[in-house]
Order: sequence, then C-alpha cells, then structure tokens
Amino acid sequence: MAKNKKENASTKVNESGASMEKIVSLCKRRGFVYPSSEIYGGLSATWDYGPLGTELKNNIQDIWWKEMTRKHDNIVGLDAAIMMHPKTWEASGHVDNFSDPLVDCKKCKTRFREDKLSEEVISSRICPECGGELTEARQFNMMFSTQMGPVAESGSTIYLRPETAQGIFVNFKNVVDTSRVSIPFGIAQVGKAFRNEITTKNFIFRTCEFEQMEMQFFVKPGDEDEWFEYWKKTRKDYYDKLGIQQDKLRYHQHGPDELAFYAKDAYDIEYLYPFGWEELEGIHSRTDYDLGKHSEFCGKEINYLDPQTNERYIPYVIETSAGLTRSVLIALMDAYHEEDLGTDSKGKQDIRTVLHFHPNVAPVTVAVLPLVKKDGLAELAKDIQDELREDFKTFYDKTGAIGRRYRRMDEIGTPFCVTVDYDSKDNNDVTIRFRDSMEQIRVPRSELAERVRKEIKNYRRPV
Ligand code: ATP
Repeated sequence: MAKNKKENASTKVNESGASMEKIVSLCKRRGFVYPSSEIYGGLSATWDYGPLGTELKNNIQDIWWKEMTRKHDNIVGLDAAIMMHPKTWEASGHVDNFSDPLVDCKKCKTRFREDKLSEEVISSRICPECGGELTEARQFNMMFSTQMGPVAESGSTIYLRPETAQGIFVNFKNVVDTSRVSIPFGIAQVGKAFRNEITTKNFIFRTCEFEQMEMQFFVKPGDEDEWFEYWKKTRKDYYDKLGIQQDKLRYHQHGPDELAFYAKDAYDIEYLYPFGWEELEGIHSRTDYDLGKHSEFCGKEINYLDPQTNERYIPYVIETSAGLTRSVLIALMDAYHEEDLGTDSKGKQDIRTVLHFHPNVAPVTVAVLPLVKKDGLAELAKDIQDELREDFKTFYDKTGAIGRRYRRMDEIGTPFCVTVDYDSKDNNDVTIRFRDSMEQIRVPRSELAERVRKEIKNYRRPV
C-alpha cells in the first residue's frame, strides 16, 4: 500500500503527459542529468549535469544574471567563497536554528521530516511506509561540517554554506566602499549551497548539493514594503523569460507559523509540479536582522551613510532567492509534452515527445542537417553551421533518416532545424523546420541567421 503510494507520486502524469519518472528517464537517456558517481552505484540525493543539462543550466543562469544585473543599474554581482568563517553561521542563526524536525520509524528505520508529514500521520504516529511506530521528533542540523587545516580541533570546524545569501551580507561594506552604489541597491550571486536534506525524493527538486541564484536588495527603512511589492511582481514575471507557463505559477504567503521571527513578510513563488504545488523561489522582507547580527558578532559597525541626508542607518533587506537546479527541473517539466499525431503508415500510434523550451533556454538552438551525406551536402551543411555558430548554439547531425533526426531534436527541445538538400546547392537556400508546429519554410541562405534571430525574438509557446 505504502509502496504503491510512492510509485504513484513518480508516475503521476500531468495533462502534457509529463511525470517525474518520464523526465528522469529522458534526462538520463539524452544526457541532461545523470545519477552522481553512477559507476559506484550512485550517491543518494546528488546528481551530475550532462552535456545538455549543463547548457540548459548555464542558459537559465545567464538569463537570471542578465535580468538582475544588466537590466538594473543598481544591482551588482558578487562571487563569494563557499567556505566562510564559522562565526558567519553563528551570527546568521544557522548553527542554532538551521534544523529540521526529524522522526524515525522504529520498524523500517525510514527517516522523515515531521513538517512534511500529513496531520493524520503526525497524530497517529504511524509510519506511512510500513505502518510501524514513529519516534518523537528530534532537531537535526542541516549544515555539512568539515575540518580546515591540519589540526582537528573545534576551532577548525567549518561549514559548507547552506545558502549563498550570507556571502552577500558579510561583503556589504566592501561593496559599498568600493563600488559606486547607493541605496536602494542590490547584490546578486549565483553559486552552490549544501544542505544535509533527508527528504530527497523527486529527482533534482531537493538535493544535498544544489545551486541558488540570490539577490539581496538594500533599502532605506520605511521603503521596504514598496520594494517588496516590486520584487514580488518582477520575480514572477521573470519566469516568462524562461518560457514557463504563468498558470503553473502562484504565490504562497507565509503564515505566522512559517515566517521567521525577524521577517516582516515572505512569499514563495510556487510551481505546479506533477507532485503538487511546491516552492520555486522565495521573496523575503528581512528587516535589518542580517546586517545587524553580523555587526554584533564581528564587533564592527555595518551600516550606511546616506550621502544626501548624512543620516546613518542599517538598511532593510528584500531578498529574492531562487533555486537554479530547481529551475532546471521546472524548465524540463514545463516544456515536456507528448503529442498524439494519430496513426502512422503502418497503423501504429505515433506519439511525439517534444520539449517546448523557449529558444533562449534550449541547449541547442539550431540543428543543421544535410539530407544525405554525399554529393557535397555534408560539406555545405558544415559550412552553414560554421556561419551560424558565432551567434547560436548549433548541432550538426548527418546520421539517420531525416524524420528520425527531427524527432531526436524535438526530444531535446531544439527549436529550429535547418535542412540542406540538393536544391540548396543550386538555389543557395535551405529549409527551416520549426519544432513546435513542425511547419517547414524555405529561406535564402543569406537571410537564414536573421530569420532565426527574428523567430527567437518573437517566440510564443503553443498553448
Ligand atoms: P524548501 O521549503 O523547499 O526546503 P526552503 O524554504 O528551505 O525550501 P530557501 O532556504 O528559501 O528554501 O531557499 C531558496 C531556494 O533555494 C528555494 O526556493 C529552492 O528553489 C532552492 N532550494 C532550497 N533547498 C534546496 C534543495 N535542497 N535542493 C534544491 N534546491 C533547493
């Protein structure tokens, strides 16, 4: 009974035909994501990004970076070290409070996060896996610790950062002193974070090693509500740029039991995963808590002198905190579609698996395919690819029937295929085949790059 429940969660199919099981299988088959150190049997809750997954992740990161820094004069970047002075985590409260309440099953030994169990399970204290008795909850700190330096003494214990945000707070003064920023302004950072997560099913949704894209926006106390509204809206709108369907996104406001004691307000942007609505990004109004705490712990003033009013204050912070690796999962799930194309010539049901990635996100933008290898078509296609590769991520494929090559490209979400045939030699033109509509048009070679650029700019995902 419990086992079935587990299987249902990963095989549950949404209206586009996507399920976690199918996404995991496609990711492995086509080189998006592999289990980490798989030749040794894998390591739970860690994953490696393959050739296509790396491109996809980099594209998402680039879009985020552009939206946050290039489109905002008042946001600058930072790349802080993963290992930080251990006092950082005392000041931030992570040493004392960054813990999950864990319960164990006395019978099957499975471990659960109590806050993720249903009311029914919590009150009955019956294991949802085997029906055994559950222990009382114990707090379990989620930071990974390690030793730095040659002596294993307590002073050398350091932590792998569980979030990128603290790297920003500890550098607040450095940035103010060395850049021409003035409040309101933000500091953006992308990087790895580590959490000793217990509930790690659902593929790359929740892993022990993951990447975050965080931005801390520093404002004058009193202006925080206005900026909170701005970032709440801006961050939800941003998902359009990734081609994510807006009706699969919603806000969830933190109730009193979820809100950190120092926070003024907090919203999650949630996505409708095949396993239900869950967090994708957090927008938090954090007051002056973080800078205030670091100031207290390091014994130095961390504040801001307003050049206009000569007033000195600790800025308030609006945080936007998105998961990069979680965004990769969403990009994949949101794009996945199984299309029934009716019966083929042999009477077999023809199902096309296609990833409707936005062209800005797609690991390959243009595939160049010679119709046949001989008679100079392969060379001509290579020549065309060389022309395109400066501006687009290209892929060259000369093997197999053209229809099968199109389908291979559909399955990895390549929006445009350029086919080079015998007429291309005579007329200097090529076919563009569109992934979403499967429509084909003929364009002169001289107009090809411009046409692709225009199609990317005007791209609209089919509903
Ligand atoms: P959750 O409730 O899902 O554990 P959280 O509230 O602890 O998330 P935050 O600390 O606000 O998450 O982190 C910001 C973002 O980082 C999350 O919205 C999510 O996208 C991402 N994130 C957090 N933990 C993980 C993880 N273990 N694996 C992958 N992404 C994560």
